[in-house]
Amino acid sequence: MTEHTKTDGLPGLDAPGLPQVMERARPRNERMNSAKVECNACPVLCQISEGRAGACDRYANHGGTLVRLDPVVVLRRSLDAGEAALVPFAGRSAEVAASDTAAPMPAWSGDLLHSEQVFVTGVGSSTTYPDYKPAPFIVGSQQQGVDMVTVVTEGIFSYCSFKVKIDTDRFLGAEQANVRCKGEVVGHVTTAEYGSQMLSLGGVHHLTGGSKKEGRITAEMMQALGNKQAVEFTIDGGSQIVIQAGRAPIVNGVAEQRMRVGCGSAAVGIFARQFFGLVDEVVVVDDHITGVLTEHQAGRCLDMKPSGIAMRGRKSTPGRYFQVANPGNGWGGTDIAEPLSILDPWDPVVAWPGLRLLMTSTTGEHASWYVLDAQLQPVETEMPAEVRRIVDRIGENCEPSLSTVLFLAGAGGSLRAGVTENPVLLTRSIKQALVNVTVGGAPAYVWPGGGITVMADVLRMPDNSFGTVPTPAIVAPIEFSMRRSDYEALGGHMGQIRGLQEVLQRGAWHNDGAPQSLQWLTLPEANPWPLGQPPLLG
Ligand code: SF4
Repeated sequence: MTEHTKTDGLPGLDAPGLPQVMERARPRNERMNSAKVECNACPVLCQISEGRAGACDRYANHGGTLVRLDPVVVLRRSLDAGEAALVPFAGRSAEVAASDTAAPMPAWSGDLLHSEQVFVTGVGSSTTYPDYKPAPFIVGSQQQGVDMVTVVTEGIFSYCSFKVKIDTDRFLGAEQANVRCKGEVVGHVTTAEYGSQMLSLGGVHHLTGGSKKEGRITAEMMQALGNKQAVEFTIDGGSQIVIQAGRAPIVNGVAEQRMRVGCGSAAVGIFARQFFGLVDEVVVVDDHITGVLTEHQAGRCLDMKPSGIAMRGRKSTPGRYFQVANPGNGWGGTDIAEPLSILDPWDPVVAWPGLRLLMTSTTGEHASWYVLDAQLQPVETEMPAEVRRIVDRIGENCEPSLSTVLFLAGAGGSLRAGVTENPVLLTRSIKQALVNVTVGGAPAYVWPGGGITVMADVLRMPDNSFGTVPTPAIVAPIEFSMRRSDYEALGGHMGQIRGLQEVLQRGAWHNDGAPQSLQWLTLPEANPWPLGQPPLLG
């Protein structure tokens, strides 16, 4: 359990426990068995038999009533030790209570409520397909004396993907290579960034543009990755990799340790002064830019004598070489295991017997020490302790290698109708920074330009924020917070605003006062308070 989902050690927290009741039994038509209820939370419109769950496992028929199987996640700035983390709403029905399999939960006394400290997230809030219905929760609150509104819903996203940053210089696959999960293409390798390989996974093309199997596996993969689980991938012509948000990537069965300190040229520049006087030449092997100290500007500034070294690859600028080898899992993200293979014969006019050469990778993980013999051949010998210390410092300066998973989704479609009768006003208000968009209470970056394209780090979201429906599409939380006056100005569903206490007691507006359950979580320290950021309160 991560810090983000800390629930203060109370029992039964991993089991959702109490169901949320969403609708009364409602036979859809005469041919439909009256013992079934129809779920209308997504376009699939499951008809669910007594005691069974719908296709997404989020809703079930509980004694003729449609119930939500997981609780609404509510964030609070802090929880005192011993307070309940999963509590039933008031008005919980006797039938539901009697059939509960979860451990008995303490009743909510109302004392826990400090409305300025409470934020209702979209996790477990339900959807209201078709979207012209108001969002499940439109919560009115006061923050520092300002009347605020938060519109809370779950979105059903077809246009969504994960951008994954993998801190490694190992070769994962060529740019544009297909990424597969369980044999299906679910994404591709995209442009590498500094010290990291990047993948684009999921997305509308794989969810709905390919075969049914491709769509199903893509949705399963996205749900697991978003929910911070480990997922295994293979990359065409490249590596096998296991990715889990916030954990080191495992490449071809080996957990990555270090993110490189910089490219070969950067490493030469950073450590040049420390090498000066201890070495005659340094080569930092890198798949991108291999650095050569005496030719590099850093070596020149130190008045280092030319060494007569001859590099393979394509010279970019003095002391900086591209393509000294092919990409791979060897030294510095190249395919070499023998570093001398990237050197041509030394210039006999310039080089001299006894010349001291260090070759290292950009992480210091690989390093060898050579001395030229009388024939100007490098002979590997034991590395002096003072040089070893600098190589170790290269390693110290590497950050731990991690996988970072960002959720990217388009919320600019019909979902907006759950917020306002005039959707473009929501889009404009977001662009004018009148509305703060959060995803499960986590801060979201809203892309400039048209629509509402949001991006958030899944590690800052509550665990199990993501679900799927078999259309196939991804279910994810989203919240829009703003001043009440701004909500009115953008054509909001003013008649559906309810105070926090009423929301917590009665549940979603379409719930008809039936019982629901809550899961209280502590707002992660890294996350700003969703209702407290300027310019909302400025
Ligand atoms: S798949 Fe859709 S209709 Fe079926 S239970 Fe889930 S949300 Fe309801």
